Amino acid sequence: MTGDDPQYDLIIIGGGINGAGIARDAAMRGIHTLLLEARDFGSGTSSWSSRLIHGGLRYLEYGELPLVYESLHERRHLQSIAPHLVKRIRITIPIYKGSRRGRIIVRLGMTAYDLLSLGKNLPRHRMLSREELIAAEPGINADGLRGGAQYYDAQVTYAERLVLENIIAAAEAGAVVRNYSPVTAIEFRDGGNHQVRYTRAGSGEETAVAAPVIVNAAGPWVDRVLALGNKKMPRLMGGTKGSHIIVAPFPGAPKDAIYVEAQADGRPIFIIPWNRQYLIGTTDIRVDIDPAEVQASDDEIRYLIDETNRVFPQANLGPENIHFAYAGVRPLPYRKKGPESAVTRKHIIKKHRGGARGLISIIGGKLTTYRNLARQTVDKVQKMAGGHVAVCRTAELPLPGAIEFEAAEEALNSIESLSVAGRRRIAQIYGGRVQRLQALVAAQPELGATLDAEDTVLVAEIALAVRDEFALHLSDIVHRRLMVGLSADLGAHLTLSIAAAAAAELGWSSEEAERQLGILNAHNARLRRTDSRTGDQKTISDTSSM
Ligand SMILES: Cc1cc2nc3c(=O)[nH]c(=O)nc-3n(C[C@H](O)[C@H](O)[C@H](O)COP(=O)(O)OP(=O)(O)OC[C@H]3O[C@@H](n4cnc5c(N)ncnc54)[C@H](O)[C@@H]3O)c2cc1C
Repeated sequence: MTGDDPQYDLIIIGGGINGAGIARDAAMRGIHTLLLEARDFGSGTSSWSSRLIHGGLRYLEYGELPLVYESLHERRHLQSIAPHLVKRIRITIPIYKGSRRGRIIVRLGMTAYDLLSLGKNLPRHRMLSREELIAAEPGINADGLRGGAQYYDAQVTYAERLVLENIIAAAEAGAVVRNYSPVTAIEFRDGGNHQVRYTRAGSGEETAVAAPVIVNAAGPWVDRVLALGNKKMPRLMGGTKGSHIIVAPFPGAPKDAIYVEAQADGRPIFIIPWNRQYLIGTTDIRVDIDPAEVQASDDEIRYLIDETNRVFPQANLGPENIHFAYAGVRPLPYRKKGPESAVTRKHIIKKHRGGARGLISIIGGKLTTYRNLARQTVDKVQKMAGGHVAVCRTAELPLPGAIEFEAAEEALNSIESLSVAGRRRIAQIYGGRVQRLQALVAAQPELGATLDAEDTVLVAEIALAVRDEFALHLSDIVHRRLMVGLSADLGAHLTLSIAAAAAAELGWSSEEAERQLGILNAHNARLRRTDSRTGDQKTISDTSSM
């Protein structure tokens, strides 16, 4: 089996959480698999979520009980196969006078959530009196506060790494995985051995590969991928945009995550402690543009700031307090009309018929349920191939970095250059994969140097990203491998030293290093909503969402 093989059992288009999960499961069941990702793994919607591994309390309102049950079940699996990435989080729901969801409704919802969670590993909910809530969260607006509820869910701080660890596991199980390799054409053949053309990363060479089964896991790009085929296809995707803002801890900021009904439109929004900052979101607006182009609009940002200031009056946030903002498109099933919030969040695994037989498209699917979606998809792939359906083991076998956090921290003690904060940071990001870092430093002691004054970032991390974790661009390393790109300054204080280490590792010329810095700056400018050429703060009007 080589990376240049022209024939596979399965070709997956899209390396977000769903494509990565399907690749891992398929490869672990012995299916000869190729995964093609147009950009970097996990750089699409999977990077732009609220980063919760949750049952979706809100879906109860729409009667989506099976989805809530499935999500709660999956939450437990993910906590067990990726304990270094998926952590428990306590969430408080404040209830105000005039809320659409009053105390009784919230209590009923919480009880149903607990019942659906039976046998799971998190504590049950607790209703709070007004006084208890104020004692727990002294910064909360007490005006009109009636009390609240407290419950538990889970959080994946670095969703990017959850995708990556699935990719790494897929490759370790024998899958061929290629980032920066966009699919450019699909040719459905009568005999069923369909051809896929893609542009190869690096060389830019047009390459043809074939497989009897193709999975279109392109998230909100699913219809665009279908349009690459030689058949007319119905529209499947009707995405809605959701935006988040990231701010520093503010006066009166909550200890727990807060899930609160917005005054403006009654939608619940989250204010979540995340990555030593606060992640606040989200919105839900129909969009019909390339998902790669969406940005948080001024109106969305104003809405999230206003609602946060209302619940935490001392916060006094303004646009100038935002570290960065991001937006993503939920890959939801296409519906001509009806409210965005009521579109089902259940995933659909669509088997195409007629001349496109052998093609499966994935519609929807949350981070939380990716493993089960992958299991169901691979079952279908095996049935379509007419063979025996091998047992899925993804719920039991841990992801590559899954050893206990404390053990990972201990394993780092041999790298003396790291500070305590550095050990903590590295263990949180890599979990058990710190052993790879250790091995790199043991073989090349110069990789044990740190890049920052606080001694928290190792040169070896860049070597790991390039040699073991498929990073090709500077932005991959900064934003989706070392995770420094999600800090308040988007990693700016480290960019040049990371670029120098990456240039040495990847053999970049000075022109190539410049080009890489340009790509990174453009990416950061979108997150900061600044002009990448001047660095000026600029108002970006987003008419797409209106
Ligand atoms: C605002 C928001 C909040 C959310 N919050 C949560 C949450 O808290 N918890 C949760 O569980 N879920 C949440 N979700 C849902 C979840 O993030 C997504 O459903 C999930 O990430 C979709 O993953 P995916 O792999 O299907 O799509 P993506 O991550 O978008 O991956 C699809 C990939 O296909 C690639 N691609 C496109 N065209 C091609 C081509 N021609 N060739 C090759 N590759 C191609 C893209 O580059 C992309 O990387 C949220 C979503 C949004 C938008």
